[in-house]
Amino acid sequence: MTGTPVWAQVAYLVAAVCFILALKGLSSPKHARAGNLVGAVGAVLACVVVFFYAHLDHLVPILIAIAVGTAGGFVGARRVQMTQMPQLVALFNGVGGGAAALVALLELADAGPREPAFTLVATAFTILVGSVSFAGSMVTFAKLQELMTSRPVVFRGLPVAFGAVLVAALVLAYLTVAHPGSWPIEVGGVLLALVGLAVGLLLVLPVGGADVPIVISLLNAFTGLTVAAGGYVLGNTVLLVAGTLVGASGTFLTKLMAAAMGRSVGNILFGALRGGSTLGAGTTSDRPVRSAGPEDMAILLNYASRVIVVPGYGLAVAQAQHTLREVVDLLGERGVTVDYAIHPVAGRMPGHMNVLLAEAQVPYEQLKEMDDINSEFKQTDVVLVVGANDVVNPAAKTTPGAPIYGMPILNADQARQVIFMKRSMRPGFAGIENELLFDPRTTLLFGDAKEMLGKLLAALKAQ
Ligand code: NDP
Repeated sequence: MTGTPVWAQVAYLVAAVCFILALKGLSSPKHARAGNLVGAVGAVLACVVVFFYAHLDHLVPILIAIAVGTAGGFVGARRVQMTQMPQLVALFNGVGGGAAALVALLELADAGPREPAFTLVATAFTILVGSVSFAGSMVTFAKLQELMTSRPVVFRGLPVAFGAVLVAALVLAYLTVAHPGSWPIEVGGVLLALVGLAVGLLLVLPVGGADVPIVISLLNAFTGLTVAAGGYVLGNTVLLVAGTLVGASGTFLTKLMAAAMGRSVGNILFGALRGGSTLGAGTTSDRPVRSAGPEDMAILLNYASRVIVVPGYGLAVAQAQHTLREVVDLLGERGVTVDYAIHPVAGRMPGHMNVLLAEAQVPYEQLKEMDDINSEFKQTDVVLVVGANDVVNPAAKTTPGAPIYGMPILNADQARQVIFMKRSMRPGFAGIENELLFDPRTTLLFGDAKEMLGKLLAALKAQ
């Protein structure tokens, strides 16, 4: 790295090691907090070091921008509900990609066509992919925040329009790299950014409902690669390392989430373009269901010897994890064997349920991964489904064409009895009806999860 003193390079190395340790820590709920802290220390170090060796112009605007960004990030992260985390990630990710694209645009305008070809390739890549990531992330944010419909937005001619902007992007990138002197290079850069924004918009608009978090992860990988390329352009090692780490981990996460939902990434991105909807009809049936009160459900649980709890998104919305733990603890004290069955995409982000239950100090040994517990449902007396829906929906096995078809599910339908705790007959995130609600072995306990678990706890204590 030219012009960077050795001590600063050593500091960058320390920051890079912090990022790697952070990823390692984040891979288990036990060390996630420590991992996060180590990563934050690395990021602060990387940001501070540059002030001590680089002769920065415009110091005041830089400091103001940092202060505004820090205040916005701090307030946003403190205020956000855990269920809104994917939106926050989308927003942070989008501004990261956008910032990298802007920096590359400025570099292009400053250095001009005399740059070596490989630097021009990295610059064009950063502008294009950073803009795709920015526009795509803003659409995912708007969809999850319900600022626009979360259904796939498809119109006639969309595949052609998408193909056209893609070709335009490639042609502009080629011209920027291969014929940099033949036109004002900054104009080419701005055009490339605009086309990148159009690619991002058209890429994400057709993605619907349940698939949006996966696209966020994919765009996160894009931003990582953009930042890595930006690091090359600026000759900054720490950006190169951090970007590569984000790019690699985002790619793995995307693949793992797609696999957990039984889909391919191509199908998630382009499924709606091929005519199939990626979101269900959202119908609510008026077929009869069996429902009961907390007292009856307490009797059922008291007489059980094996219970499995299936937590889902509704548990997080209701913030009922502490009351749930109390119920489970009480049953445990009375000799009932209880475990939590954790589906990989229960909730709205990977690991959502693990984090939620860890917050309520549920012992890790009680959290059973889907593959480990799925064979045990057959011998289970009662399954208590708390605010989950899609992750126990048999349509994933029985209904080809359903948005969740092919997604591995928890075998709650194989248990002797199912208690289903939810507020209404509304469907889950995928927007499709759940046949398990109408199963003769299922009893619905209608109401907010926290309130109902509180009543269930009181009824259990009274028995
Ligand atoms: P779902 O969204 O399928 O179901 C949640 C249920 O909770 C709803 O049926 C809702 O019914 C109920 N609910 C909501 N609020 C409350 C409340 N306050 N009290 C009680 N019940 C409540 O959640 P799952 O966890 O089963 O499935 C996750 C979904 O998210 C899947 O479709 C998955 O594919 C998708 N997804 C998850 C990702 C991840 O990484 N975790 C990533 C991508 C997608 P009602 O309104 O009647 O109360």
